[in-house]
Amino acid sequence: MKYKIVNINETGERSVLIIYTGGTFGMIQDESGSLAPFNFGKVVERVPELRQLDIRLTVISFPTPLDSSNILIQDWKDMAYIIEENYEQYDAFVVLHGTDTMAYSASMLSYMLEGLNKPVIFTGAQMPIGSIRSDARENLITALEIASAHTDGIPIVSEVCVYFNYRLLRGSRSQKLRSSTFAAFESENYPVLAEAGIEIEFNYAALEPYNPNSELKVQNQLDPNVIILKIFPGITEHAVKAILSDPEVKGVVLESFGSGNIMKFDWFINCLKQAIEEGKIILNVSQCVGGEVEQGKYETSKGLNRIGVLSGGDITTEAAITKMMFLLGRETDKDRLKHQLTHSLAGEMDSVWE
Ligand code: ASP
Repeated sequence: MKYKIVNINETGERSVLIIYTGGTFGMIQDESGSLAPFNFGKVVERVPELRQLDIRLTVISFPTPLDSSNILIQDWKDMAYIIEENYEQYDAFVVLHGTDTMAYSASMLSYMLEGLNKPVIFTGAQMPIGSIRSDARENLITALEIASAHTDGIPIVSEVCVYFNYRLLRGSRSQKLRSSTFAAFESENYPVLAEAGIEIEFNYAALEPYNPNSELKVQNQLDPNVIILKIFPGITEHAVKAILSDPEVKGVVLESFGSGNIMKFDWFINCLKQAIEEGKIILNVSQCVGGEVEQGKYETSKGLNRIGVLSGGDITTEAAITKMMFLLGRETDKDRLKHQLTHSLAGEMDSVWE
């Protein structure tokens, strides 16, 4: 892959590598009026303040900036590769990314970048940088300030995060919940890591502690053979069977109701049971954005433990499906895989013990 690299600012105490993948942030309207990504050179013209920051700044751009709806597994590998290749050279990384799938990418990168002890901050915008009322400038500049924040050379943030609309969220806890307000992202089940007002207030108790001894090891074996099965009242047996009987599918994220409940029909339980007997892994997550799965709390979820459906606790769907791809790609021992699915790898969930 041919990346474009541009040095923006060569003086400053800390160094940050901006990885520009695309997204609304840098889009302009094409002839038909639709928004399409353009290259980062033009972005810098719109944010001249970048040159005034006390940060050494370099931008590396994807050869073709992407609408994040088009993100593929290979793009996650490319992001991880860029970070790995430049890890020693930079103090921090800011990933400019479309908002639509940012929570998936931030979750996946938080698994892939094992041993990370530098900030990797995802950000983007709801309105293109060229629009007068755009949120792009603020999001980028504060993300850079957070990325370069340190105490005596030790970074304040040493994990993968999403910065958006004045708030820093843990990447693997974030979700895009709104498409038409600036407050697009939430982290319902984990506290906000920092709030940007006049000062940037860090929530030190919630941040992943810095580990001076950890070494970055990128894990990039990912398995795409996963699916999300979202249930709804009236879902048909043949639709469920079509999904669960696909021989290629190895992992299923079951999006259930409330605290992990399903419809208690024999055909549904039998479909799940058969899929598990055929070797598929099923992880139960809630359709609710806040709260957690508690299998057995209601009669409608009691049977799940018995047939071997795993509880995803308070994990988001985004963090669950990416975790499934990540673990299926690298873990061959089924028991270890199940254990890891129900325990936190990168702060994405409160571990579930059964
Ligand atoms: N479709 C755009 C994207 O995800 C939306 C955005 O960036 O806000 O790339």
